[in-house]
Amino acid sequence: MPSPRTSRRDFLRLAGLGSAVLGAGAVRALGAETREASANGGAGRAKNVIFMVSDGMSVSTLGLADAWLRFTTDASARWPGIYRELPVVRGLCETASANSMVTDSAAAASCWGIGERITNGVINITPDGRRPTTILQKMKASGRRTGLVTTATVTHATPAGFVATIEKRSDQKGIAPQYLERGVDVVLGGGTEFFPDDLTAAFRKAGYAHLKSRQDLLGWKGDSPALGLFSKSHVPFEVDRRNDPAIGTSTPSLAEMTDAALRRLSAGPDGFFLMVEGARIDHASHGNDPVGTILDQVAFDAAIGTVLKFVEFHPDTLLIITADHSTGGMQLNGVGSEDFAGKAPAYQGTTEAFKRLLKFNRSQEALGRQTKGLDPKKFLAATREATGLDFSSADAPKVVSLKGLNEVLPKYVGISWTSKNHTAEPVEFAAYGPGASLFPPFLRNDEVHARVLRAAGVA
Ligand SMILES: [Zn+2]
Repeated sequence: MPSPRTSRRDFLRLAGLGSAVLGAGAVRALGAETREASANGGAGRAKNVIFMVSDGMSVSTLGLADAWLRFTTDASARWPGIYRELPVVRGLCETASANSMVTDSAAAASCWGIGERITNGVINITPDGRRPTTILQKMKASGRRTGLVTTATVTHATPAGFVATIEKRSDQKGIAPQYLERGVDVVLGGGTEFFPDDLTAAFRKAGYAHLKSRQDLLGWKGDSPALGLFSKSHVPFEVDRRNDPAIGTSTPSLAEMTDAALRRLSAGPDGFFLMVEGARIDHASHGNDPVGTILDQVAFDAAIGTVLKFVEFHPDTLLIITADHSTGGMQLNGVGSEDFAGKAPAYQGTTEAFKRLLKFNRSQEALGRQTKGLDPKKFLAATREATGLDFSSADAPKVVSLKGLNEVLPKYVGISWTSKNHTAEPVEFAAYGPGASLFPPFLRNDEVHARVLRAAGVA
């Protein structure tokens, strides 16, 4: 296979686009050399690697989280901000798996884990039965400390895909002991249900701190490896963490978990590999919950802020920010107004529709829990309270369930979805720091693994 650099040059030559046509500056801007020179010392070796995954994020999610932040704070989102302010290498990444144009998170993370496309639902076992060494094992063998931080159960498909080897992603009880066996130094997220007492005892015996609450995490000095599990299943949605004081005080944010992990990992002499996953963007999008999706993306963006502060003082760090696939096909659609009914749409109702989302105060998951077993009238009242929406007399009778709510919601907030499933679109891929120039502007998910290792000087 020709190297991407060669094929890019060939493409320009074959297309008849020499420097005379495009201008020398334009051609240089397209070339790897320029990116190499500008990407924060892009040619050097990365001592540390921070690999951030927004699970299920589309470009639309990124844009709407940015809009949310601009409407509610003075700031824009950091992710688009780094495109404006830093010499980031930006690309699009194709996301298929071995058996489908649409990947699941297990096959997607396994691409990063072993550099090969495999079957959906499997963790790091190839279709022909091989079990290659995973990226965290390789990083560990290179002397680096390793860490997994997520808002899902820590044994969920994405974190597992960086280190574990197992036939079924659903076998989370089988994944949990592999973290101890394979020596992951810091494991933070949800999922106590997959760690029986004898397993947590084994972690403690091996010297791990066992953190159980936000208070534990914030008080932790980072003087040992750590297993931090902050909920029975997934960590609660950010919208619920913000609006329910009981959840907010007991549950750490993704940024707080990231900060704690960096404290421990960066204290080692030989560098580290840290994976940070905003997992619940995907979960909210599976439920077609717009505010659940947007606020978990906002929380992921805050974790980017934490990482950027670290990277500023540790320029020997390669930072990758990407998604594994997108979920649900969320879009803010242009909304007209009655004045323009029947005329060319001017979309002047759009911003007002979107701003209605700012009043939502819980996830659809929490609303579903709260209204379980209630009669339809009470569901409507609870939904009014949870959303601040004033449903029309025609729509109110439909709002008797989450399904009914989702049927009328697009009319009020402008957001609709293509499905409750993952989609095939390519995803954002951003790299910054030493080795960033190794990533071409369009790549496949199974090309990432080898390039990360090369950036870190690991064979
Ligand atoms: Zn998913």
